[in-house]
Amino acid sequence: MFSYKDQIAVAVSGGKDSLTLLSIMKKLKVRFPLSKLIAITIDEGISGYREEAISLAKSLSESLGIEHRLFSFKELFKITLDDFLKKHDELAPCSYCGVLRRRALEIAGRSVGANKIVTAHNLDDEVQTMLLNILHGGVDRLMRSSPVLADPDGRFIQRVKPLCYLYEREIALYAYVTGIKFQHIPCPHRSRALRGELRDILNNLEDKHPSLKYTAFSSKMKLSHMIANYGVKLNPCSSCGEWTSGDLCEVCRVLLENKEIRCLIREA
Ligand code: SF4
Ligand code: ZN
Repeated sequence: MFSYKDQIAVAVSGGKDSLTLLSIMKKLKVRFPLSKLIAITIDEGISGYREEAISLAKSLSESLGIEHRLFSFKELFKITLDDFLKKHDELAPCSYCGVLRRRALEIAGRSVGANKIVTAHNLDDEVQTMLLNILHGGVDRLMRSSPVLADPDGRFIQRVKPLCYLYEREIALYAYVTGIKFQHIPCPHRSRALRGELRDILNNLEDKHPSLKYTAFSSKMKLSHMIANYGVKLNPCSSCGEWTSGDLCEVCRVLLENKEIRCLIREA
């Protein structure tokens, strides 16, 4: 996942997973003095929720001696998620939030000079995402969900998910045991997401059939390799040049459908 002189941007939302990740990355970094860590937080503009998360992210970064940088949807796309949703109440908040946050992370990673962006996806997230992709007809996206995702052409910063082999509850336990202060309140939009329903279903299944999430994750990895070997290719988006399996990338599709969101990459 890493080499000894990586410049690593750690995506820190303020939740237990990302704060745990930051703390573990700091422990690893001590053994690799030529490497560099920078914590980056994306502020989507979710009132009453993101403020506490940002403060927790800043506070842990400071105590670990890691530089912290904040990037906002308002700054990058000229609109907060809250304002966007006021105009589009019919839309699924997480679909838009997720697409724009992925792009925001790429912009943030470039801005801080990172060659790797580390995210705190855990095993539960990975299995939920696999099912979401299948349910939404996006099975080809599975090939972009590997623990280490590199662009052979070097157009995108490599993504790494060091916690993806760990159950969410194991990470929560680590955070409690090591005294990491993290945000407990969930995002107000979470209840509208299909992901939440899948989380409940998978947790119920895991209770009755221990290790089922592991075997599902293992299937996801096999599917991902099979799809990649089948010859599904990623190509540049016809509008912005970013990486996509179709003609238009997801960000440009969102931009096309919602003209009030302007993306800095597109303007550049
Ligand atoms: Fe964004 Fe949905 Fe996560 Fe809230 S729950 S931060 S809207 S992806
Ligand atoms: Zn695009």
